[in-house]
Amino acid sequence: MAGLSLKNLHKTYGKVEVIKGVDLEIEHGEFVVFVGPSGCGKSTLLRMIAGLEDISSGELKIGDTVVNTVQPRDRGVAMVFQSYALYPHMTVYDNVGFGLRLKKTPKDVRDKKIREAARILQMEPLLDRKPAQLSGGQRQRVAIGRAIVREPEVFLFDEPLSNLDASLRMDMRMEISKLHQDLGATMIYVTHDQVEAMTLADKIVVLNGGVVQQVGSPLDLYHTPANLFVAGFIGSPKMNFIEVEVVEAAGGTVTVSGPNMTKISLARVSDGLNAGDKLTLGIRPHQLVPAENGTITGTVTLVENLGNETYVNLELASGKTLIVGLDGDFKVTLGQTLTLDPAPNKAVLFDAEGLAISAV
Ligand code: ADP
Ligand code: MG
Repeated sequence: MAGLSLKNLHKTYGKVEVIKGVDLEIEHGEFVVFVGPSGCGKSTLLRMIAGLEDISSGELKIGDTVVNTVQPRDRGVAMVFQSYALYPHMTVYDNVGFGLRLKKTPKDVRDKKIREAARILQMEPLLDRKPAQLSGGQRQRVAIGRAIVREPEVFLFDEPLSNLDASLRMDMRMEISKLHQDLGATMIYVTHDQVEAMTLADKIVVLNGGVVQQVGSPLDLYHTPANLFVAGFIGSPKMNFIEVEVVEAAGGTVTVSGPNMTKISLARVSDGLNAGDKLTLGIRPHQLVPAENGTITGTVTLVENLGNETYVNLELASGKTLIVGLDGDFKVTLGQTLTLDPAPNKAVLFDAEGLAISAV
């Protein structure tokens, strides 16, 4: 197994730069997820690691070796794609063992590895079937088996679950997590789905426009987003953003107010704030708490009862709508007026550039 080191990696297609200087350290045995919207460069970065795309500039190390010009098959990586790309006329057994046969691995060694992969993935009863006789989840398991028998230092997954339906996706997510625990291998996993990222990752790398926005554990990103992009991308339903103005910044606190709310004071971490500065206040749906004479008041325009929790759309006087997450037992009706307070020390302030300037 090996860690990876990415130093100032760039990728350009002609004049278009799609990876704009990525620096990243990945520890040996870590489960790292690249997450971001479609087109942000996740697959390109993963394919650069795999050796399927040239590196325009920068340095990529796997273990202690710079691998910029090393052939894909010699990098000690195995990749699993969204499309399973199985050979339809071959059995599961032969599909899993195909790469080993190409490498002329002796038959008995091959057999042992295929059966071990089948055991890990609990697909021993499927070995004689053809891909057409498998469900989507089983096919993806075969594709993962093909990666396992190569015994790579690093597993690379590119949206492996995107073709599966929602409930199967959840099952497979748990299987991949368990696979990581069992093998202890370094894994890099690409997805556009922030829930997948939150549930699988030791470390999440949020990408946007070919630039790393933030690197951190799932809860780091959730509680202390570095900027508006990360704050809006991580967490479901999304964080609410309210335009506010600084009323007073003195001592250890900053007081802000907006057209939609009375004054609210937060712990201050930035010294450079002045009255009149325009900021954005970010508050997650569950951190808006019903209160008598709260700072934020609005009208309930939508109620979604999910059982253990209830989501409400709250329309403010300005016309802006906030999403509020309430306990499932909280009684709320359409059209009623609701007043709320942000939970203490849970709101985040962002400056005009969108950078977080208050700690949670
Ligand atoms: P993601 O996987 O995050 O959805 P990609 O890494 O596939 O994004 O693509 C990142 C950007 O690079 C996109 O804007 C895409 O259009 C562009 N791109 C990808 N491959 C090529 C290519 N071969 N030639 C030109 N542009 C490309
Ligand atoms: Mg992609």
